[in-house]
Amino acid sequence: MTASYDLAIIGGGGAGQMAILRAALNQLNSVVFLGDAKAKKRSRHIWVHNVENIPGMFDLKNPISHTEKEVLNFIASRNELSDKVKTVKQSVTKIQKIEAGFSLEAAGTTYQARYVVLCTGTMDVQPHIQGSIEPVFPYANRGDILYCIRCDGHKTIGKTCAVIGHSTSAGWVALTLKERYQNPKIYVLSNGRPFEGSMEVRELLDLYNIEVFEDPILGINGDPKSHMEGFQLAEQSIAAERAFVVLGSIVHNDLARQLGVELDEREHILTNAKCESNVPGFYAVGDLVSGKKKQVYTAWDMAVDAVDDIDGKLRTQRRKELLDKK
Ligand SMILES: Cc1cc2nc3c(=O)[nH]c(=O)nc-3n(C[C@H](O)[C@H](O)[C@H](O)COP(=O)(O)OP(=O)(O)OC[C@H]3O[C@@H](n4cnc5c(N)ncnc54)[C@H](O)[C@@H]3O)c2cc1C
Repeated sequence: MTASYDLAIIGGGGAGQMAILRAALNQLNSVVFLGDAKAKKRSRHIWVHNVENIPGMFDLKNPISHTEKEVLNFIASRNELSDKVKTVKQSVTKIQKIEAGFSLEAAGTTYQARYVVLCTGTMDVQPHIQGSIEPVFPYANRGDILYCIRCDGHKTIGKTCAVIGHSTSAGWVALTLKERYQNPKIYVLSNGRPFEGSMEVRELLDLYNIEVFEDPILGINGDPKSHMEGFQLAEQSIAAERAFVVLGSIVHNDLARQLGVELDEREHILTNAKCESNVPGFYAVGDLVSGKKKQVYTAWDMAVDAVDDIDGKLRTQRRKELLDKK
């Protein structure tokens, strides 16, 4: 027989862990899909080696994976909470709307849930260097190549810095670095694409002497084990001890698409203030939601809003059933 739950939470990263905790604390009968190894590998949180913008996380290594484990261990240690949460270490591959809510498939097993909270996140688009994204990884793992100015902008203080991207957004990251941190030198590298920055951005880049190079990046200079020195272009080397990648996101919205959920022009999920999509009962929280900061504390807040809203709806319905019986 297909197991049936009040709530299915898909993803256990930044957003999912708070949805799981809130659901357990609210005593919702929940099934939680943490994702298989492949899903974990393509999720953003595994790139987060340290967090310096959230109190309580400064000393944690791999803080988001750490807090995910902590939440699951805490729930497992309390019978009154663990009784309510079933954990599945698999990815959901199929979802359908049914009369009783949703039917979900993971590793050949079918589950049913009245409500769903999708927390599958996004992934940063990586720059290609000579046709491969591999050269980036050792430097990204060291924290020389960065992705989030709100999280890591301060790590460039006193350092030469390149911004890899061709859009107005890439231009704004370079300008923000200059205005906030006064880096000794900043470059924009559009890596073989024409720079598409707006007139305003071009004028400001000129004002701050931030040069834009459109040549393809041919290699990364430095030692992947110890430090980055910069980027090799055909005619010259660009000195950069740090770099920001600003190329947009791959949004893990495949399950939302299966249901016909409304997306914005950047393929992020459109929701109301309580994180419910246009498909009633289907909620999205975290990085894949349209118009929200891609941050852990934002993901946490959205998760609480969504789960509390679902809790309110379930309680209203149960209360109504009780009153109807009277
Ligand atoms: C390099 C870097 C540094 C960062 N530093 C900071 C920082 O300092 N401070 C900060 O606030 N934020 C930081 N962030 C942002 C932060 O990582 C994200 O905001 C946060 O992880 C978003 O949480 P999420 O749940 O939306 O996505 P994720 O944390 O990426 O989690 C997605 C989850 O979904 C699961 N999944 C995917 N598909 C499926 C499926 N089909 N079925 C089941 N499970 C699935 C994956 O296994 C994963 O667990 C940083 C990001 C990067 C890349």
